[in-house]
Amino acid sequence: MTSTTLINPADESVLGTIEHATIAEVDDAVARAVVAQRRWAALAPAERAAALRRFAAAVDGAVDELARLEVRNSGHPITQARWEAEHVRDVLTYYSAAPERMLGSQIPVAGGIDITFLEPIGVVGVIVPWNFPMTIASWGFAPALAAGNAVVLKPAEWTPLTAVRLGELARESGLPDGVFTVLPGRGSVVGERFVSHPDVRKIVFTGSTEVGKRVMAGCADSVKAVTLELGGKSANVVFADADLEKAAATAPYGVFENAGQDCCARSRILVQRSVFDRFLELLEPAVRGVVVGAPGDEATEMGPLVSRAHHDRVASFVTDDARVAFRGTAPTGPGFWFPPTVLLPASRSDRSVTEEIFGPVVAVLPFDDEADAIALANDSVYGLSGSIFTRDLGRALRVSRGIESGNLSVNSHSSVRYSTPFGGFKQSGLGRELGPDAAAAFTETKNVFLSTDA
Ligand code: NAD
Repeated sequence: MTSTTLINPADESVLGTIEHATIAEVDDAVARAVVAQRRWAALAPAERAAALRRFAAAVDGAVDELARLEVRNSGHPITQARWEAEHVRDVLTYYSAAPERMLGSQIPVAGGIDITFLEPIGVVGVIVPWNFPMTIASWGFAPALAAGNAVVLKPAEWTPLTAVRLGELARESGLPDGVFTVLPGRGSVVGERFVSHPDVRKIVFTGSTEVGKRVMAGCADSVKAVTLELGGKSANVVFADADLEKAAATAPYGVFENAGQDCCARSRILVQRSVFDRFLELLEPAVRGVVVGAPGDEATEMGPLVSRAHHDRVASFVTDDARVAFRGTAPTGPGFWFPPTVLLPASRSDRSVTEEIFGPVVAVLPFDDEADAIALANDSVYGLSGSIFTRDLGRALRVSRGIESGNLSVNSHSSVRYSTPFGGFKQSGLGRELGPDAAAAFTETKNVFLSTDA
C-alpha cells in the first residue's frame, strides 16, 4: 500500500499521511456500489430527496470544520474555504429537489402512447483535481446521487481531506452504505481503475487537458459516458468605453482568486489600445492591494500555491527575461508563496499568453477593435470562461456571442452558480455540470411505446 504525505502549503508543516486505495479496494467498493445503487434507485423519489436534504444538513453543521480542513490542506483563505463548504451544502440542497422532478416526455405517435423515462446510469466515477477539492466533488456526486446513481469518488493526491470528511458526513447523515464511497489514491491506479472498470458506467473528470484526453480514450474502450472539465486560458476583455476604474479594480480578483489555481482564471487581460496605458496605471495599485498572507486570517484574499512542485512550475513562467510590469506582495519564509505578477508579453505567441499557468500570473495585451478583441480571445485551444467590460449593451452581446467559451460575464467576473450550467468549449471540456439539467446528464433516456390496439 502506498500513501501521500500531506503538507500544509502555508508553512510546509506535515499534516499527516493518507493511505492510497488499492485496485482490489476499488473493485470491492464498485461491487458494493452496484448492489447499493439498485436499492437507492428503487427508493421512492421523496425518500431519496429527504436523504439528500439530510446530507446537506450534515454538511451545514460541519461548514467550519470543512473550511478549516481546506485551509490546512490546500492553503485556501478561510473566507473562501467557508464559501466552498457552504456551496457544497447548497449544491446538495439544490439537487435534493431533482429526484421528484426527473420528468420524461409523452410523445404523440400513432397506435398508442409513447413515453420516456430518465433511468439512472448505474455507478458513476468522479475524479477530482486539487484546486477546489470540495466544490468540484459536489458538482459530480450531488446530481449523480439525485438521479439514482451510486458514486465512487477519487480526490486528488495532495488534497483528499475534505472529500474524505464529506464521505463520512454522508454516512453519518444516513445515506445507505455503498451509495457514496470516497477512495483516495493515485490517478494512475484508482483513477485508471474507475475508467477501466466495466461496472462504472460514467466518468466525471475534472483536471488537466492532458489527463482528460487519456480518460476520454480509456472510456472509449467500453463506450463509457464521460464529462470532462479541463483547462482554461480565459480572457478579460476591456473596451475603451468601459468603466475603467471598475475594470481595473476587479481584474486582480478575476485571475488571482485561489492564487490563480482556478480553471476560470482570466489570465489574459486584453485592453483596447487607446486606454492601455491608463488601464495599467489603474491596475498597479489594485494588484499591490491584494492581501496575500496566512490563510487562516479573515482579511486574507490570497494564500500560497498548493505544493512545491506546482510553485516551481508557476515560477518557470517568470524567468529573468520576462517583461514584468509590476508585482504584488507575498510572505517570505516557509510556504509555497508567489506574489501576484503582471506580465507584458512581447508577442501574442509568448508561452505566458498561450499556456495555462494556474498561478497568480497574468498577461496583459493590447487589441485594436472589436473584431481584433474577439479574434485574440479565441486564439486559444481552450474556451472555458471570460469577462467583457463595456458600457455598450449591443457590444456586450455581440462579443459574448463571438467568444468561443462556455461561461462569460459582462462587467463582472462571476462564472459559477450552482443553478446555471458550467463547462467548456474546445479543449476546455465536454458536457456541462450544474444548473437545472445536471441530474439528467446522469441518466439514460428510455423510450417505451404502449400499443392501444384493441
Ligand atoms: P490532473 O489532470 O493532474 O489530475 C486531476 C485528477 O485526475 C487527480 O485526481 C488525479 O489523481 C487524476 N488522474 C491523474 N492521472 C490519471 C489517470 N491516468 N487516469 C485517471 N485519473 C487520473 O489535474 P490537477 O493538476 O489536479 O488539476 C489542475 C487542472 O484541472 C488544471 O488544468 C485546471 O484547469 C483543471 N480544472 C478544470 C476545471 C473545470 O471545471 N474545467 C476545474 C478545476 C480544475
